[in-house]
Amino acid sequence: MSEISFLDSVNRNFDRAASFTSIPKGILEMIKACNAVYEIQFPVRIGTEVQVIKAFRAQHSHHRLPTKGGIRYSKMVNKDEVEALAALMTYKCAIVDVPFGGAKGGVAINPWQYTEEQLEKITRRYTTELIRKNFIGPGIDVPAPDYGTGPREMAWILDTYVTFKGGEIDAAGCVTGKPVNQNGIQGRTEATGRGVYYGLRELCETPDAMKKVGLTTGLQGKRTVIQGLGNVGQYTGIIMQKEGGIKIIAVAEYEGSIIKEDGIDIEELMAYRKSNNNSIIGFPGSTTLADRTSALELDCDILIPAALENQITIENADKIKAKIIGEAANGPITSEAEVVLAKKGIIVVPDMYLNAGGVTVSYFEWLKNLSHMRFGRMEKRFDSTMYARLVATVEDLSGKKIGETERALLTRGADEIDLVRSGLEETMVSSFQQIWKVYAARPEVETLRNAAFIVALEKISNDYANLGIFP
Ligand code: GLU
Repeated sequence: MSEISFLDSVNRNFDRAASFTSIPKGILEMIKACNAVYEIQFPVRIGTEVQVIKAFRAQHSHHRLPTKGGIRYSKMVNKDEVEALAALMTYKCAIVDVPFGGAKGGVAINPWQYTEEQLEKITRRYTTELIRKNFIGPGIDVPAPDYGTGPREMAWILDTYVTFKGGEIDAAGCVTGKPVNQNGIQGRTEATGRGVYYGLRELCETPDAMKKVGLTTGLQGKRTVIQGLGNVGQYTGIIMQKEGGIKIIAVAEYEGSIIKEDGIDIEELMAYRKSNNNSIIGFPGSTTLADRTSALELDCDILIPAALENQITIENADKIKAKIIGEAANGPITSEAEVVLAKKGIIVVPDMYLNAGGVTVSYFEWLKNLSHMRFGRMEKRFDSTMYARLVATVEDLSGKKIGETERALLTRGADEIDLVRSGLEETMVSSFQQIWKVYAARPEVETLRNAAFIVALEKISNDYANLGIFP
């Protein structure tokens, strides 16, 4: 374990990067401070006993509203962790131009120890407490899923909110990551993983980056290790395998880690895990490694920690042999460990950029809720008709006929999922370019995390300047 806390680690990273900017000290302090934390304890009847449950909601910054960030259900939740995660949301939103402040919530329970009914009770009570203190609302603070929560919990939050705020026209925008048939959006569940794919693809397509680590350009065939098969790890693995052609040689999970040099199909592994009492151990063709963190230390091209914070610390940083680390989780590398990794020449793609796909599609979902209409509804048929006319004109002019498969492809109007993926890809690509530009132009900046922070800090301090809060 690292000696410093997650919050200290985030703040140290902040200070390190801030030293490369000329932003006045007072503004930096304003950006760094966590504006408000609501800490509550409430009773819930579980079986025959009453349990007192501890929960939090931290709003890190209000330079843009609403504030935004997930809700985590984990026994490890505490005030420091929630504040650290809320701070990361502020920087994340700035980097990908999602016009929100950062927030995060947490309930200190182990969700796997409760029945669905009990979880519903806890979620509804937590939501009620947030409503009571005006800590939730489409223009105030908008939660989303995080570790231990998903669309089901978001639907309960929405239903509780609507019960209290009957008649509020934009109520559906009080939470994102909802089931698609409950005012959610297509593509939100896969969004973080898909964003990780776009981000790592951009890095691997950058010749200077690949030269630095001695790899060929492109994702194709890159030997990859993934830690965590939750929502983020799962979709990252599946999409990077199918669309990027990477080879997943090892996977680490709670129950242990496995290696299979000729590649692990993540969909097959997920099916195996389900049928094998929730364990990846014994997956056909694989070898079990000594312990669950051994996979992190394997010789590979890309390492993707997609579980929790503080996984690579000064204890194991020296043993990491990956050439690239993609932070799909929030805070998997401590600030001390990062110094060691940088010295070893490892490129770290930071969380505040790489896992921003989730909040990006949350932003699209919120926009959909405010517009009360699904994306693509207005233009899909119009576009399709225009493309059909274009195809007919080409056929007329050339005197040749286009095949049925091509015709169908060329004359298709965009569905919601197409638009969501297109918006996400554009966001991840353009944000990568902004970060890389700073990194390439300023060698003293040294890491992509410093570069990403600089991009975020410049944007946020500009907001404060425009608000008139500037010396
Ligand atoms: N919990 C996710 C994150 O850490 C998503 C947040 C959101 O969609 O608001 O980025």
